Amino acid sequence: MDNPDPMPILPNMENISDILIVGAGLNGSAMAIAAAQAGFRVTLVDSLPTATRRLPAFDGRSYALALASQRLLSAIGVWGAVRDSSQPILEIKVSDGRAGEGASPFFMHFDHAEIEEGPMGFMVEDRHLRRAFLDQIKAEDRITYIPEETVITQEVHATHFVVTLASGRDLAARMIVGSDGRQSGTAERAGIKRTGWDYGQTALVCAIEHEKPNNGIAHQFFMPAGPLAILPLTGNRSSIVWAEKTETAAKITQMSDSDFLDALRPRFGDFLGQIKLAGKRFSYPLNLTLANSFVADRLALIGDAAHGIHPIAGQGLNAGLRDVGALVEVLVEARRRGEDHGTRPVLDRYEGWRRFDSATLALATDGFNRLFSNDNALLRLGRDLGMGLINKLPRARRAFIREAAGLTGDVPKLLQGKPV
Ligand SMILES: Cc1cc2nc3c(=O)[nH]c(=O)nc-3n(C[C@H](O)[C@H](O)[C@H](O)COP(=O)(O)OP(=O)(O)OC[C@H]3O[C@@H](n4cnc5c(N)ncnc54)[C@H](O)[C@@H]3O)c2cc1C
Repeated sequence: MDNPDPMPILPNMENISDILIVGAGLNGSAMAIAAAQAGFRVTLVDSLPTATRRLPAFDGRSYALALASQRLLSAIGVWGAVRDSSQPILEIKVSDGRAGEGASPFFMHFDHAEIEEGPMGFMVEDRHLRRAFLDQIKAEDRITYIPEETVITQEVHATHFVVTLASGRDLAARMIVGSDGRQSGTAERAGIKRTGWDYGQTALVCAIEHEKPNNGIAHQFFMPAGPLAILPLTGNRSSIVWAEKTETAAKITQMSDSDFLDALRPRFGDFLGQIKLAGKRFSYPLNLTLANSFVADRLALIGDAAHGIHPIAGQGLNAGLRDVGALVEVLVEARRRGEDHGTRPVLDRYEGWRRFDSATLALATDGFNRLFSNDNALLRLGRDLGMGLINKLPRARRAFIREAAGLTGDVPKLLQGKPV
């Protein structure tokens, strides 16, 4: 192999790949599959063993996938394995609320029928999604998957990148993609700083079983301490994402399951009838963390490594899948033009596409959270009137629905369901 780099590729170096992906979470896995299908030779490394990604039982975690994200999963051959267990999101209802008082009479109601594209999105359980990704990774000849290995150092050279694993093994690639989550070591080692702050809120996450059907309706209640989302799963089940002030959340986390349900009930009333837990309870401290740059020499960040946002609108994974679609498209385009896909001018095109959008989304979710996680009477009146007004304007309603479905802005081809 030609090696014009003055720093020689190490003698014990394994075959150099086109793209080395650090982190096989949902975004890293999607990136590996999409890049491999576009013809790149990919190495995918993750600290976790495969077994922890292949949990057969429902553990209570699930995601709201926008319609555009579903199109990407379809385009990379993963959707078929999760379709039957997914729940279409047909309507979204947003309202102000207080524990014990139920929802305010001012609310916004969005119905997918207004945009004629299909459901706004789909609820998918974490266990199904992870298994589908793993199966597809195994099916791709161009992916070398290395579980149970942690990247500990990285070094950029003129023509390639070298990472060293905790086991002492070295791997080389033309570029690396950091999809290693909110505390991205890939970003840190490259000297990329982050901007962000703590929300002083923790998300309590679980699934519930209920007496009455959810009819595919997602509810978002804005409570003074933080938003409460009730998202429809298949059968008479829903996923709960309940943001509370961190001190309160710590107390709730300590509660028995039955005390937890007693605390939850008055917050959304009895419109679903009797409720009980389905699966485990999780808690996630909430913060905002935005990488000051999404690229460096021969390096790009995607997903939470680039932008970790508030889950208020359920957009974190959706934003990461947009990164995947945009980065793969930019890399394919570069290869078509005969460019070295790891060079800065190429990666700058990815950053130009995604960074402004991601910062806007991060700040919008931040602003919503501040506006709504507040019991100030004047703010409450203002937002209730605002919601009442938007609800009466069909054009504003349709714009919201298209936004929630991920159909606005410069949508990458894969998220339009088209090949790159
Ligand atoms: C409460 C809550 C609810 C949410 N709900 C939704 C929703 O409904 N819809 C939605 O779109 N999004 C949602 N999100 C956001 C979504 O969960 C995340 O955006 C997404 O899971 C991030 O995936 P990722 O692959 O970028 O990172 P991660 O899932 O953090 O994966 C990072 C991976 O990198 C690996 N890793 C780290 N360091 C190394 C290393 N040095 N070497 C090797 N491997 C390494 C880790 O083992 C891990 O597997 C929610 C988030 C929260 C907190």
